[in-house]
Amino acid sequence: MKQHFSFRKLAAVAFSLLFVFALSAKKPIKTLVVTGQNNHNWKVSHVVFKQLMENSGLFTVDLAVSPEKGQDMSGFVLDFSAYELVVLDYNGDAWPEETNRRFLAFVENGGGVVVYHAADNAFPDWKAYNEMIALGGWEGRNEKSGPYVYWQDGRLVKDSSPGHGGSHGRQHTYVLNGRDMNHPITKGLPAKWLHAKDELYDRMRGPGDITNLLYTAYSDKETGGSGREEPLLFTVHYGKGRIFHTMLGHAGETVTDSPAMQCTGFQVTFLRGAEWAATGKVKQKVPKDFPKEEGITYRKEYK
Ligand code: ZN
Repeated sequence: MKQHFSFRKLAAVAFSLLFVFALSAKKPIKTLVVTGQNNHNWKVSHVVFKQLMENSGLFTVDLAVSPEKGQDMSGFVLDFSAYELVVLDYNGDAWPEETNRRFLAFVENGGGVVVYHAADNAFPDWKAYNEMIALGGWEGRNEKSGPYVYWQDGRLVKDSSPGHGGSHGRQHTYVLNGRDMNHPITKGLPAKWLHAKDELYDRMRGPGDITNLLYTAYSDKETGGSGREEPLLFTVHYGKGRIFHTMLGHAGETVTDSPAMQCTGFQVTFLRGAEWAATGKVKQKVPKDFPKEEGITYRKEYK
């Protein structure tokens, strides 16, 4: 009888342990990557994101691939409600009104968004979208889109002088300068790290209401830049939603020839920003191969 009792007790303990493990096992973050039109090589970038995010073990990725540019967009009605995170890899024709309305509701209700590279070129006339991205470029943006925003004398300044919004010099390697190393995305990362050859977006304009500026980089006139310290990675809060905006990561010719996306610094900040946008926290450890100021490091396999 005594033995029987102990066995039941043991089984009960084992069962509760299993239950605790089941609860603590991380459920992957359900992610939708929106792509299909871009002035960039979206056929490379969306494959990179699927591999990078799923190989991290933290995300599952579905793809929403739009019709080609100039085709009928009326059927591109997206359901964001099943997702915790939307990655925007889209710069093209307007979405149907219903998709805009649903996207806005998704963000207002607490959805996470990653704005990646040329996604901040999209939709220059959609007010709410421009508030979410804070800064955008090209597509006719000018002083009517909002001020230039850049780092000067230890703070972000808004400069309303007239002019075109969005440009970049020739691609080159450059150092990212940390501006808030206590944010969950940046905590534990180096305040300075060298990024692989990439575009450096400059003279971006928009409402400019950045919540946390994470990294800037100096856009040197010698490489065709603005001569300003440009905000490149930052967060925006919109409604209950969290947005992580990274201007880095110009896609290359192929998945295996995309140095800006193969840069460990790009990948790690992307994954940390994505986790934060979806959950408000970052549980990923800082990897040993994260670049420092002196040396670029690469993860050519996206894992
Ligand atoms: Zn680019």
